Amino acid sequence: MKLTEFATQFSAQAGINSLMEDLGKAMAGDQPMIMMGGGNPGHFAPVQERLRAELQGITEQPEAFARLIGQYDAPQGEARFIEALVDLLNRTYQWDLTPAHIALTNGSQAAFFMLFNLLAGKTLEGQQRQILFPLAPEYLGYADAGLAPNLFRSVRPQIEQLDAHTFKYRVDFDRLQLDESVGALCVSRPTNPTGNVLTDDEIHQLHALAKTWDIPLIIDGAYGSPFPELIYTQVEPFWDEQIILCLSLSKLGLPAARTGIVIARPELIRALSGANAILNLATGSFGPQLIEGLVRSGEILTLSREQVKPWYEAKMHQAVAVLKDAMGEDCPWMLHQPEGAMFLWLWFPGLPITSQELYLRLKARGVLVVSGHYFFPGLPDESWPHRHECLRVTYSQEPEQVAQGLRILAEEVKKAYAQA
Ligand code: PLP
Repeated sequence: MKLTEFATQFSAQAGINSLMEDLGKAMAGDQPMIMMGGGNPGHFAPVQERLRAELQGITEQPEAFARLIGQYDAPQGEARFIEALVDLLNRTYQWDLTPAHIALTNGSQAAFFMLFNLLAGKTLEGQQRQILFPLAPEYLGYADAGLAPNLFRSVRPQIEQLDAHTFKYRVDFDRLQLDESVGALCVSRPTNPTGNVLTDDEIHQLHALAKTWDIPLIIDGAYGSPFPELIYTQVEPFWDEQIILCLSLSKLGLPAARTGIVIARPELIRALSGANAILNLATGSFGPQLIEGLVRSGEILTLSREQVKPWYEAKMHQAVAVLKDAMGEDCPWMLHQPEGAMFLWLWFPGLPITSQELYLRLKARGVLVVSGHYFFPGLPDESWPHRHECLRVTYSQEPEQVAQGLRILAEEVKKAYAQA
């Protein structure tokens, strides 16, 4: 059997593929594992109870139930949900949206695949264009979503030390050079893996660059505003037609419903809907229909702000307290200021082993984290030691488990420095 280049590319050990496989195998093995590796949201009872009630309501109305399971939507997505979301966003942020500005996808991961290939690769004029990530580390799920080779490039950040054990990445605007080969800028805000939240000033500067070069600024708000609102600093949600804002229902607690939301200028929404029709025929409408009532009433915003966000923020503070206590002052360690999402990003300056080796040692002790080296998509500079000195730790699961995992992590890190 002869397969194509497409097959080779998609069956190769893509970062995300090998990582998911490795995590899956570790979880399925005999040893009990402390899961601090994936990006699965926690199971949060208030969200689950609220959605169970919505689902019950739908199953009790024959017409609504028939719509839930028995209808293909248009390629742009479930029309009533889109209309409710347009109303909510215009009411809340005065954004001037119409239904032509929104398309739904089967998870936002699928949206990135389509958007990246709509905006980068070979143009009709024969020019090669790339997606530029202004700040690496960046989400590893972007790394292999390009059909053309070398679809991505990224830029090293400035590292600002905030106190003895805390730092923050900032976009290095001196290093960020744009030219005709850039098809779009893309940032996750909050950032997976670091929990960084780009400041309003950084977003405005990126927006100005996008405008100058007449390219979109993609903002991945999978963890951001207006839902699930896992942002622990003060920032303003921002959208205009220069921006492609990607949202998701996953981190609110519905990753299995596979619902991504793209807000962009109508010509892009039309192109995206066309790609969606070819790939999926229609987007699944289960997530949009289940959540429609909460969008219509605005409850999705209060649920996010008043329940989901404080729940994760408390988990973050608990995890940071345990980490500080466990690491102490025996060896170098730095934590990226945790400003959002559900991750701690740890940096061990001068670590005598690679972060991948540290990951393996932790896995052998029943703790699953993710080695930081995966999170530099499109960064050519392999010689930068920093990319092999970091780990991502998820704190969305049970606090006792997270605490136990962090204590084991601290032991292994200290051992690694001591053995050098
Ligand atoms: N963007 C970021 C930053 C993520 O971390 C994830 C998932 O972990 C996604 C997008 C994709 O999420 P989904 O496809 O479930 O919407």
